[in-house]
Amino acid sequence: MSLLPTELLQIAEPARRNDTRPNLLGLSREQLKALLAEHGLEPFRAGQIWHWIYWQGVREFGVMSNIARKTRERLEELFVIDRPAVSTEQRSTDGTRKWLLRLSDGQEVECVNIPEEDRGSVCVSSQVGCTLTCSFCHTGTQPLVRNLSAGEIVGQFMVARDSYGEWPSPTESTRMLSNIVMMGMGEPLYNFDNVATALRIVMDDQGIALGRRRITLSTSGIVPMIPKVATELDVNLAVSLHAVSDEVRDLLVPVNKKWPIAELLKACADFPSARNSRRITFEYVMLKGVNDSDADARELVRLLTPIHAKVNLIPFNPWPGAPYECSSNNRIHRFAEIVNAGGLSAPVRTPRGRDIFAACGQLKSESVRDRRTKVRDLEAKAGV
Ligand code: SAH
Ligand code: SF4
Repeated sequence: MSLLPTELLQIAEPARRNDTRPNLLGLSREQLKALLAEHGLEPFRAGQIWHWIYWQGVREFGVMSNIARKTRERLEELFVIDRPAVSTEQRSTDGTRKWLLRLSDGQEVECVNIPEEDRGSVCVSSQVGCTLTCSFCHTGTQPLVRNLSAGEIVGQFMVARDSYGEWPSPTESTRMLSNIVMMGMGEPLYNFDNVATALRIVMDDQGIALGRRRITLSTSGIVPMIPKVATELDVNLAVSLHAVSDEVRDLLVPVNKKWPIAELLKACADFPSARNSRRITFEYVMLKGVNDSDADARELVRLLTPIHAKVNLIPFNPWPGAPYECSSNNRIHRFAEIVNAGGLSAPVRTPRGRDIFAACGQLKSESVRDRRTKVRDLEAKAGV
């Protein structure tokens, strides 16, 4: 793939690596109150600070003008408000922006904003790397280093807002950054607690105030965790299906060996919002000669008809050394026709930001650590 010219902005912003003061970013309201109480600060301060951090977008206590100077100084001594530091910002010729973010321990993670006519979707990562080795995904070739904290997850969205100057939190109708898709690096359901805390912060109406319908969590199919997306968060669900037989899905999404298609679709059929008006999105990557035949399309219709579903057809985004090719345009459109004729909406997702390697499945930062131990740790933690 040839790279188009891009604008690469270097922003020197040192991460606070040696600072031991706790970071307030990413604490739930209750945790914030408790931390303040530990230091003898009144509970109502939590609401004030929350407003400054998540509504006004500030990073310094000094500007919190409704808090007395002495208290501000004390807050400054005790805590920090720290987002991930921007190592680089890249701007695609199609308007997509991608940030390489440096975390306080030096690990790196990527975050992307995809502007569209009526909205801007920030694609947020949940882990550094991923344990799941999907064979068509670039992130899957990067061994997992660790889960992101809630602050690092909500911090990605805030960095995107910094870049667009979108503070204080604008009204819903004037927002450029209006949606969050948990579709960056990592499997969000293997880091559920931190993802949930971050999304609750984002949805809090005294702060960033994104509506739950503007948030989509994408999973490769961690079946036992799927009900929690409805019961604890009630955000939109997207499922990376990508194949209609276990034989093919085992190769593309190896976690299928643990939770095969029938179990996955059962969890989707039981997903509460699927019974109401909200549809589950099934993502389907178009891989030449692998999963893109007419028979595959018909089987997809058969499998998804009992579920309140829509399909997102994603042209495969290539990366160096990838063992697949993207299906031809004709093939993708024929496939879409069959799915549409079967009564399911099946838009073809236009690849965005390919020139800056920001498209689906192209994210990968340069960190390495032992994958197997990490997989075991995370699975044990997630109780699956
Ligand atoms: N881990 C989660 C969320 C991140 S991946 C998941 O797998 O759902 C976001 C979406 O991009 C998933 O549907 C994933 O399967 C898809 N994807 C990964 N690599 C891709 C590639 N090279 N081309 C197109 N889509 C890809
Ligand atoms: Fe991980 Fe999702 Fe990539 Fe699979 S597609 S390796 S689950 S990020």
